[in-house]
Amino acid sequence: MEMTLFCARINILILLLALCSPCKFIQSPIDLGPLNFLQNANTASMDFGRIHFNSPSAVLRPKSPEDISLLLRFVSGSSFSKVTVAARGAAHSIYGQAQALDGIVIEMDALPSSIRVHRKGEAEADGVSYADASGGALWVELLEESLKHGLAPRSWTDYLYLSIGGTLSIGGISGQTFKYGPQISNVLQLDVVTGKGEAITCSPTKSSELFYSVLGGLGQFGIITRARILLQEAPEKVKWVRAFYDDFQTFAEDQDLLISTPDLVDYVEGFIVINEQSLKSFSTAFPAHLHFAPKFHSEGSSKVYYCIEYAVHDHSSKDIDTEQVVLEELSRQMRHLPSQVYTVEVSYYDFLNRVRMEELSLRSVGLWEVPHPWLNMFVPKSGINEFVDLLLENIATEEFEGPVLIYPLLRDKWDANTSVVLPDADDDQVIYIVGMLRSANPASCPAACLQSLLQTNRRIAGAASRVGAKQYIPHHSSPAGWSEHFGRQWDRFAARKARFDPLGILAPGQGIFSRRS
Ligand code: FAD
Repeated sequence: MEMTLFCARINILILLLALCSPCKFIQSPIDLGPLNFLQNANTASMDFGRIHFNSPSAVLRPKSPEDISLLLRFVSGSSFSKVTVAARGAAHSIYGQAQALDGIVIEMDALPSSIRVHRKGEAEADGVSYADASGGALWVELLEESLKHGLAPRSWTDYLYLSIGGTLSIGGISGQTFKYGPQISNVLQLDVVTGKGEAITCSPTKSSELFYSVLGGLGQFGIITRARILLQEAPEKVKWVRAFYDDFQTFAEDQDLLISTPDLVDYVEGFIVINEQSLKSFSTAFPAHLHFAPKFHSEGSSKVYYCIEYAVHDHSSKDIDTEQVVLEELSRQMRHLPSQVYTVEVSYYDFLNRVRMEELSLRSVGLWEVPHPWLNMFVPKSGINEFVDLLLENIATEEFEGPVLIYPLLRDKWDANTSVVLPDADDDQVIYIVGMLRSANPASCPAACLQSLLQTNRRIAGAASRVGAKQYIPHHSSPAGWSEHFGRQWDRFAARKARFDPLGILAPGQGIFSRRS
């Protein structure tokens, strides 16, 4: 029998000990109530990255937040134990962040997926609309439920099949971030179980240190079991625009123009159009015929192009198309390539769920479940030109598979009390996110090639520190790497860890702290 946990639903954990010799960590009889452990822990060693595969000893399927609290009280109260515990949301991490080698993985999707929507004006709602959602619920579930009330969250990720607790643990960004801040700037309250097993409701005014620690906290301080997310009126439709450029400067200036008009524009992103393939994959979700035929190679040299993607929510009545007027005005001011601007109108749901179409298309050709050596960097505006040069010098553009995102965010939309690390260059109000979202199909990129792509990422991330860039969804394999990443925020991060998870039980897959006895 495998060394993974094979105990089915049990009532008392001492039974587990009796049944399961690998569970050496459980040495004293304690009633853990009706915890629901899984028979096979293999799936919990897998994530979207497909680079690290760390098997836990046990997988908990909690039926309520109390199950999580019970487990953590037991683990933190046992002086002998070396056990670690990782919450696993949708496991869309890249580098094993939701894994727990020989520890316990808590599958957050097992929590009852209750989503309760409160509309502004209702007794409980207190002047704003919001939803209370389980930490294990997916953002797409929250979207579907809130749309039934004509409402939706304000801030998103590009892909919606991520868990609420999972993205709140890293930040949560997309094209709305310049306007509303990241998802962590749109949370009113959290229920958290700390590393000591305490179940605490926190907010900016109640247990605020825990609230801000957990937001962007890489799972280090507590497990989010419920989040109260701010909602706004949802538009029915969205005007979705893509405009192409052949030089970075003009592209960046037009992005600046768009983010300087948040009253008019609801979403701004951008891509480096790196090769034919990246142009082709653009068409998957965007239902317009592109008559754009760029020359990626001419006279022995390679060239890349740029694409701004922006959107305007369509609240128009049938007679007045205000949004169309807005688009025409913006288009007059923008300096994209002549005629290379495309506009479509789609439902708000389809717009937000656009990456799902890409997922289904990649799945159909077996290219979704492949390794993903991704690198995401926050780059201060003062260093963005140098960073783009560095990036293009270090990747073979013709071979790159996957999108390269690049779009601006505004520093003042991020709360400095949260645990997210932004570039230090405080003078730079604009920070770019650059996402190199590469796929490594084992058919064309076997293990050695994957290692070389990871090496390239390390080289880019290392060199990028000279322009003050920081990793978003960071991954560092040495204490020195983490200490440099956190920089002047390290002392606060470590003090928060000592307060809320002093034994270093939580989220071992991040590799920041070691388990202490
Ligand atoms: P997991 O991978 O399950 O967990 C991530 C970390 O959070 C782990 O350390 C885990 O222990 C911890 N954790 C999980 N749940 C909880 C909880 N309830 N409480 C406390 N800690 C918890 N990010 C963006 O910001 N914008 C994007 O547009 C975007 N698009 C993406 C598209 C794809 C296809 C993928 C694969 C990822 C994307 N991401 C994006 C990154 C993604 O937001 C993060 O990887 C996020 O952490 C994934 O959420 P998850 O539920 O899969 O978390």
